[in-house]
Amino acid sequence: MAKNLSPVCKLCRREGEKLFLKGERCFTPKCSFEKRDFAPGQHGRTAGKGGKGMGTGRASDFARQLRAKQKARRIYGVLERQFRRYYDTAITRRGLTGLNLLQILESRLDNVVFRLGFASSRSQARLLVSHGHFTVNGRRTDVPSMLLGEGDVVAIREGSSKLSYFKDLGAYTEKRNAPSWLGRDIKSMAGSVARMPERAEIDGSLDEQLIVEYYSRR
Ligand code: SF4
Repeated sequence: MAKNLSPVCKLCRREGEKLFLKGERCFTPKCSFEKRDFAPGQHGRTAGKGGKGMGTGRASDFARQLRAKQKARRIYGVLERQFRRYYDTAITRRGLTGLNLLQILESRLDNVVFRLGFASSRSQARLLVSHGHFTVNGRRTDVPSMLLGEGDVVAIREGSSKLSYFKDLGAYTEKRNAPSWLGRDIKSMAGSVARMPERAEIDGSLDEQLIVEYYSRR
């Protein structure tokens, strides 16, 4: 499984905002963005928040489109080639391309595991899935990028539920609200996709229009 090996907190500093990539740590004073909210690298302080061109308030259209795309990629932990493939799929679907793209990202198995509260971050969810701890419709899977659709059921694999991580998970999961487009049963620690999320149910800080503009000009 290909993955981005950049230090995670640097990605927040690059985007000039907290992307909440490290689960619980992001909500504590240990969050490194709280201490260093300037772009990484030798010229980070002078470049301002978000790196060159973004701190001055005079970013070009292209720079804004690029940053919007990079931010979404980083939040969902998707590499460029795959993100482009999602965009190409989004174009072929009915409706708004930008919303289609966000719905594809939300329907990834690792995202659904995270949204259900079975992991504290998408990267942790990705790891748990890739280690084969989940089933989809009763079948074990280790593919975090698997796209789920309406009616798909995600559950913790029977053998994995005996592990201490999953034994202790219930209390944590209960504290996390699952979005209404997902169904969740804490008792059986399973969830299902009731429907695709509406725009208001997806991170409002993402700008899908800029992402569409970015790919439209290429
Ligand atoms: Fe970003 Fe979380 Fe790291 Fe803070 S702790 S910089 S929010 S990934």
